[in-house]
Amino acid sequence: MKYDVLIIGGGPGGIYAAYELLEKCPGKKIAVLEAGHELARRRCPIDGVKVKSCIRCPCCAIMNGFGGAGAFSDGKYNITNQFGGTLHEFIGKRRALELMEYVDEINMRMGGEGTKLYSTGNTPIKKLCLQNDLHLLDASVRHLGTDINYVVLENLYNHMKEKVDFYFDTPVQHVEKVEGGYIAHAAKGSYEGEYCIISVGRSGSKWMETVCRELQIPTHSNRVDIGVRVELPHAVFAHLTDELYESKIVCRTKKFQDRVRTFCMNPHGVVVNENTNGIVTVNGHSYEDPALHTDNTNFALLVAKHFSEPFKDSNGYGESIAKLSNMLGGGVIVQRFGDLIRGQRSTPKRLSESFVVPTLAATPGDLSLVMPKRILDGIIEMIYALDKIAPGTANDDTLLYGVEVKFYNMEVELTGDLETCHKGLFIIGDGSGVTHSLSHASASGVHVARYLAEIM
Ligand SMILES: Cc1cc2nc3c(=O)[nH]c(=O)nc-3n(C[C@H](O)[C@H](O)[C@H](O)COP(=O)(O)OP(=O)(O)OC[C@H]3O[C@@H](n4cnc5c(N)ncnc54)[C@H](O)[C@@H]3O)c2cc1C
Repeated sequence: MKYDVLIIGGGPGGIYAAYELLEKCPGKKIAVLEAGHELARRRCPIDGVKVKSCIRCPCCAIMNGFGGAGAFSDGKYNITNQFGGTLHEFIGKRRALELMEYVDEINMRMGGEGTKLYSTGNTPIKKLCLQNDLHLLDASVRHLGTDINYVVLENLYNHMKEKVDFYFDTPVQHVEKVEGGYIAHAAKGSYEGEYCIISVGRSGSKWMETVCRELQIPTHSNRVDIGVRVELPHAVFAHLTDELYESKIVCRTKKFQDRVRTFCMNPHGVVVNENTNGIVTVNGHSYEDPALHTDNTNFALLVAKHFSEPFKDSNGYGESIAKLSNMLGGGVIVQRFGDLIRGQRSTPKRLSESFVVPTLAATPGDLSLVMPKRILDGIIEMIYALDKIAPGTANDDTLLYGVEVKFYNMEVELTGDLETCHKGLFIIGDGSGVTHSLSHASASGVHVARYLAEIM
């Protein structure tokens, strides 16, 4: 099967690369090879009744399939260069923002119209943060919500399915460089393309490492973010979430000078399990539809850990901490903030007496047995700092779920056009280590597609 362009991975990076190739060079043959199912068949078996927690499916329906890791996400589309990746370092700040805005426009045409765009533009919250030694990062945030995000993906698929060959349940095992292009080998067959775009996201990180080793593509790796997901009554953060929806607030800790930040805020949302390579961690999302709203808001507090030589396996470090929580709790552990401060574990009884009702069935336990002191100290310091701008954050019943880990793919050495040292082989999205968000990943796909449209 011979194509002009092979795209490996059907997440936002791969989808938007395919979309833009169709727009700019409609006559070209394009294939998308995706390890997971098509959108309609993506279903996590956790139903809260028969299956209460992660059963470690061989191919996780949350992380894999058309739409990628973001398919059931909250669909927070952040238009900014301040977080979500370093795409601007490759293609320039202006172009990066232009491409993120371009994708936002397409999302609006594909079913997202009417959703709200929030902005940190002139908010007084910025000053309030500064007065308390906290720092609010600048961004425009489109909140699609899990439900509308799904509709947008459905429409994108319907728009492309007759013109692009999608191969689902097709995990690519090897990428071979041959005369005149690349061959992607999968159990079902081999697919040849003159150009190859790899966009395998975080779930493909281990595979990506193998590809880079086999093809001798230089990589660097030194970062992991470790923390907890905080869940509290919606009213506590309402003045922030009503105005900004998502506020990225950063604090530098006094003792260790680490940066702790809020991440992925979900007003009226739910806390969920996430399975990365068989390790169960925590995440969160929320729905646009008011009928699906809960009484709680959740967000992550993450501490960024950068390692220096000789240590190279930053993801391995994060995995070991997450494994510890899985070992002690059989999955994710939940603890009340008050219990953590008093040095006692949370128990089912203590949790049942709590005024905050958890939205995820996690195991009550003790996070201090799991998290390194430096990281836990940073999280506690941040909770007290946030309590000054959102009183009630440091209440006894505030729930902390652990562990939340943001694994970063190793950074692949790429040109400004996201091309590897092999001509015609591109690595985009989260799999490249360049992006960590829907907006940056999608924009990276458009960027490479436009470059290919010029040279094909
Ligand atoms: C629960 C959750 C909530 C999130 N919420 C948000 C949010 O609100 N806002 C935001 O900006 N970001 C969010 N993110 C992050 C966001 O989803 C990612 O940054 C984004 O999806 C990255 O896009 P991508 O295309 O690079 O990779 P992915 O979306 O991970 O897609 C990669 C695809 O490649 C496939 N693949 C992997 N290996 C292979 C292989 N060997 N062969 C074939 N296919 C393969 C995978 O099955 C997957 O479908 C969230 C992530 C999760 C997990």
